[in-house]
Amino acid sequence: MKSSEYGKCEDCQQDNIGPQWCNTCNSKRFQSEFNEWTSEDAEIDEFIQKTQLTATKYEEVIEWIPFNRFNNIKYLDKGGKIWKRSQQDVCLKSLNTSTNKDGFLQEIKYQLKFRGIWAISIYGITKNPTENEYMMVMHYAIYGSLRKMLNSSFEKLTWHNKMKNLFYIALGLAKIHETGLMHKDFHSGNIVNETKTSSYITDFGLCKPVAENDLEKIYGVIPYMAPETLNRGEYTQASDIYSFGMIMYEVFTSYPPYYNIPHNEELVISICNGQKSHLIKYFNNSEIKKQIEKANELNKNFIQYNPKITHPQAIYTSRHLPFLKSKKIETIEHDTKQ
Ligand SMILES: [Zn+2]
Repeated sequence: MKSSEYGKCEDCQQDNIGPQWCNTCNSKRFQSEFNEWTSEDAEIDEFIQKTQLTATKYEEVIEWIPFNRFNNIKYLDKGGKIWKRSQQDVCLKSLNTSTNKDGFLQEIKYQLKFRGIWAISIYGITKNPTENEYMMVMHYAIYGSLRKMLNSSFEKLTWHNKMKNLFYIALGLAKIHETGLMHKDFHSGNIVNETKTSSYITDFGLCKPVAENDLEKIYGVIPYMAPETLNRGEYTQASDIYSFGMIMYEVFTSYPPYYNIPHNEELVISICNGQKSHLIKYFNNSEIKKQIEKANELNKNFIQYNPKITHPQAIYTSRHLPFLKSKKIETIEHDTKQ
């Protein structure tokens, strides 16, 4: 793409490299501010500076945001926090930087890479002085996670709305896969909704290049994990798509997969042996179009998912699953390709 497509900078008359974005002038401006802020961590400072100097548009810029600029901090689930800043809510996400700074910066890189269209926007980095932890400052999606949106708004969703949600999620996942990555932790708690129909993928903490596979650290939410991941610790792009299948099921029915049973070794064994959540079979049996017509009829007696009926040991936050290393599970041979 030729840079002159974006016209010339009004100040220095050089070609803009993005929409109203002059790299020379903006770099000078950012550089002049470098000594006015610090994260107190040289690596994080350098990361923010580099992002600012290589930006090609306003949305690509992240900044250091001092913690005292936040007010009205409320806690969300999973350690996220909401912060109000001149009518705008943002989400603060801590990422255990004390033990894993590389992972923190990598997650921000991925979030930035897919930001805007497929992933939620990121504004910068801050540090909570009392807990001494660095945090990612992100756009706050009004409806919260896809799971929360289904809990609060499922009855208002038309079939068209449901399809639209899944369409955006599928596009986002395809984008991640196109760049040679896998998400590895794809579930309805890691997708957020800005409206009832626009879903964004988030949580790139486990996102990894396809070539990297760490068998020792299996994290996840069991109902969304493919059999080959559960029994052999194997992650592939196909296992992300298996997770997407579970999300489809959830968006269509309002029910999270396996909500009524404990998420333990027994469930893992039955998934590895080919058991599928019973409603999935129902959706596999005929085409979606036909289902939509039928569904409206069936919906008359439909009982929507109520979070209160969830089994207390059904756990929908990503966690380390050491029991997957047991012999009982490792010897089962079954995967999504079958
Ligand atoms: Zn300029």
